[in-house]
Parts: sequence; C-alpha cells; structure tokens
Amino acid sequence: MERLDRLFEELGAANKDSLGYPGAKDFDYSEIERFMAFPLNNIGDPFAQSTYRVHTRECEREVVSFFAEATRAPHDDWWGYVTNGGTEGNLYGLYLARELHPDGMVYYSEATHYSVAKNLHFLGMRHITIRSQSNGEIDYDDLLETLKIHRDRPPIIFANIGTTMTEARDDIGRIAAMMDRLAIRERYIHSDAALAGAYAAYLEPRPAWDFADGADSVAISGHKFLGAPIPCGIVIARKHNVQRIARTIDYIGSLDTTITGSRSGFSPLMLWYRLQQLGEAGLRARLARSLEHAEYLVQRLLEIGVPAWRNPNAITVVLPRVSPEMQRRWQLATAGDISHVVVLPNVGREQIDALVADLATSRKEDACKA
Ligand SMILES: *Cc1c(COP(=O)(O)O)cnc(C)c1O
Repeated sequence: MERLDRLFEELGAANKDSLGYPGAKDFDYSEIERFMAFPLNNIGDPFAQSTYRVHTRECEREVVSFFAEATRAPHDDWWGYVTNGGTEGNLYGLYLARELHPDGMVYYSEATHYSVAKNLHFLGMRHITIRSQSNGEIDYDDLLETLKIHRDRPPIIFANIGTTMTEARDDIGRIAAMMDRLAIRERYIHSDAALAGAYAAYLEPRPAWDFADGADSVAISGHKFLGAPIPCGIVIARKHNVQRIARTIDYIGSLDTTITGSRSGFSPLMLWYRLQQLGEAGLRARLARSLEHAEYLVQRLLEIGVPAWRNPNAITVVLPRVSPEMQRRWQLATAGDISHVVVLPNVGREQIDALVADLATSRKEDACKA
C-alpha cells in the first residue's frame, strides 16, 4: 500500500537523525515478529494462574526476575510486572506507597519527570517539591529541612535515578540515612530509574539506587536503553507490600495486582528476547560504549567552544539551549536554558562528528546574524 510505503520511508528518515530522546535503536526483533499472529494478553498478575492461556507470563517472570537481581531485591520478597513504560511503573510505586501510607507526603525534586505531577494528581496524594542542585540532583539540605517540618506525615520519597534532562541521580542511601537520623521509621522510597535502571547495576562506583540501598519499588523503561519498537517497562516492588493490596478477581481467574487489566503479551516477549540476546555481558558492553561516546561528545563540543558537560557516569550530555533549527534537525530535547543529547549505544563517532560539525556551522551563522 502506497500510504504505508510513504510512512515507512518517512519514519526511516526521522529515526536516523534523532539524538535527543532516550530510545536506543540498535535492535532486531525479526525473530519474534511471528508472535504478532496471536492475540497475546498477559491480563492480571504475571505470577498467578489465569484462565486465558494465550500469554507470555513465563517470559515475563524471567524478565522481572532478571531485574529483581539487578536491583538487589530481597530474596523471596519481590514482585513485579512488565508495564507500558516508566510512567506506569512510577504510578504503580506511588499507588503502593499511598495504600501503605494513606496520610503520606510525597517529596520529589523540581527536576522530576513531568508525568509524576499528573500521577500524583490521579492518586490525590499530597506532595512537596524540593529544590534541585544545578546538576539536577535533589538538594539534600532542602529535603532535610522540609522533612523536619512535616514530621507528622510518613514521607514518600520519589527519587530520580537519572533525571530526564541531566541524568542526575538522587542518592537513595543518603536519603535513607537522613530519615534514620530523624528516627522516621514509617516511610517509603520509590526509585524512578526509567533510563538508568537498565545499566545502573553495572556502573562503577555503583550509584545508590536500588532495594539494598533502601528503595521499596523501582521503575525502569524497557524501550530506552535496551531499545524496543513498543514502549514498555518493568516495575518491581517488595512482595509483602503488594500482597497487602492484592485482590482476587473471579472473571479473569487471577489476581488484580496490576494497573491495567489487559496487558501486552508481546512486550514481555520482546524484553525477554532482548535479554537473551544481550545477557549481562552485552549490557555491560553497551554501557561501556555509551559512556565512552558520551565523553567523546563532551570533548568534541568543548573543542568548538560549547560548554557541554555530563554528570559522573551519565550517558546524557548537556549543552546550552541550541537553536530551534538544531532542535528540529537532530530532535534535541530542550527545556529552559539547556538541550541534551542521549548517547545511547547506537550513537557512534561518525554521528557525533556530524552533529558537532552541524552545531559549529549553526553557531557561526548565529554569530554572523548577531
Ligand atoms: C522517560 C522517563 C520517564 C517516563 O518513562 P516512559 O517510559 O516514557 O513512560 C519517567 N521518569 C524519567 C526520569 C524518565 O526519563
């Protein structure tokens, strides 16, 4: 069909030059395309039985189990599922926190993803925005002072493990220790590791972001660092907490523990296949490549006089706001006075050189106009 051919071509062109959004493109799922022939549906809880048998729950459990290990979830006390993306995982974490602490107060930094305010609105949760430091990390002093003021409400910390614009990581260990010192026992910490959750376990030094560091739930996007043609993600939480809110539903013959009822059976298969292909060694290799190229981009930008920077061990490179033309051409996400490039494993030196050359030209043109 001609419309389809045209669309396919346009998407191919658009995909080639996008550098500013965090979705990896180096994937090949052709081996599992044939599963598109089934009305797959992982409705309900991935760990429970279901009357409907056209599903990929086994793959889903293995995917969740892989990430339970990567997030150092407590043995025999974790549960999770494959979501539609980071946003749903964050919604789940906050929902769980609200059920456990109905009078809790949510704290999150001003660099938090835009979807979180919406989630909190859905859930009707009280919340306070905490200042961010200039690198995007939460301001611990502001958090401490604010926690002290609201001692009567259990804190629910929404921590960023890689903020959207600068990939700054809030230190969950430090936040947990802060609450220990204030003798706050009733509390909850959610880790929004949408981008960095797919590789944070392999970073050295390892950031304080997971269950062993004090998190009670972790959300990760599947289509970002891993790369997938359909948005997806993983959420993991402490099982004893989830059990407190689970309900059995006769109609599906399963537990209604997930946010949506019907759930993709293709996404878990995709993630499972991807993890089979890459393994931990593949993930580590992709990370090393991204880190190396991110540093290369910073150096190349500094060479042409652009004050670029990145947070320690981040694959996101931050630069002063680029022109609308550059934003359009390279699909560079821009907010306030900064733009960024996410150096995913598919981004090679050639593409970085092309971007830098383009930016140099565009800066010269702007300088002439000024
Ligand atoms: C991308 C992102 C999200 C949202 O994840 P989706 O998979 O797009 O729903 C949430 N938080 C952060 C920090 C992100 O980078």
